[in-house]
Amino acid sequence: MDLKIKDHVIIVTGGSKGIGRGIVTTLADEGAIPVIAGRSADEGEALVEMLKANGAEACFVQTELCEVDQCREAVRQTLAKYGRLDGLVNNAGMNDGVGLENGSPEEFLASVDRNLHHYYYMAHFCLPALRESKGSIVNISSKTAMTGQGGTSGYAASKGAQLAMTREWAVELLKYSIRVNAILPAEVMTPLYESWLKTFDNPQAKLEDITANIPLGQRMTTAGEIASMAVYLLSAQASHITGQFLYVDGGYAHLDRALAGSDK
Ligand code: NAP
Repeated sequence: MDLKIKDHVIIVTGGSKGIGRGIVTTLADEGAIPVIAGRSADEGEALVEMLKANGAEACFVQTELCEVDQCREAVRQTLAKYGRLDGLVNNAGMNDGVGLENGSPEEFLASVDRNLHHYYYMAHFCLPALRESKGSIVNISSKTAMTGQGGTSGYAASKGAQLAMTREWAVELLKYSIRVNAILPAEVMTPLYESWLKTFDNPQAKLEDITANIPLGQRMTTAGEIASMAVYLLSAQASHITGQFLYVDGGYAHLDRALAGSDK
């Protein structure tokens, strides 16, 4: 299938690690031009060098996404360099464990700032260029928006709001033919996930408990599997898909977990 995404410029927030990195490398493999908007210059520039060594075009724009001005600047620099923008992947986030019992109003606000506000900032600043290109937006949400997790109110609230904004933007942007969709991962091994596992007394036992309950294959989803969906949604092949919530999770959120671990 030709995704028709060659030379399309796509900003990926938090694109140097984990799921974002998977999306960036898949975009580059497909001939698109990923622009990483992220915090760590060392990691971002190392990834860009690796992609360039493999013949791809890519760039890194150092961005603290909680700062509105830095989000505006990331988009400005992208347009100054490439003169076009075809897509945005809002991906950066952090499951930071600010709960109802173990948290405070101030921590809750900070968590929502870390996880939600920059999804709006980035979409807002990208919009004029996306109008011109009839581009596309993919929001990386989480199963926690639908299932809850316990002990992570700020993160779950942000992930739920990302789904609401996905539908809201899909409607608002119909008139520009800009498509907006969300992906809900469940369990993907990334640096973020590894540090969450380390909060348990026995991380290995916790991991085995989790994977035993993933219906399809009793294994984690890979970042590459999330990336395949994201790149498809960004591409012309997904030209009539908008406002959708895509679960890429081995059936974790919807299938009967009593089936997990059985031979059926
Ligand atoms: P990750 O391994 O921590 O990677 C996230 C990247 O985003 C890192 O490079 C991080 O930079 C960057 N980032 C975070 N906040 C930032 C900010 N304010 N400014 C600039 N850069 C920032 O996380 P991941 O597991 O790949 O998660 C990516 C997305 O998937 C998140 O939205 C997460 O909620 C969602 N998700 C993940 C899972 C999973 O199982 N992994 C499940 C459901 C949903 P630093 O390294 O500097 O922090």
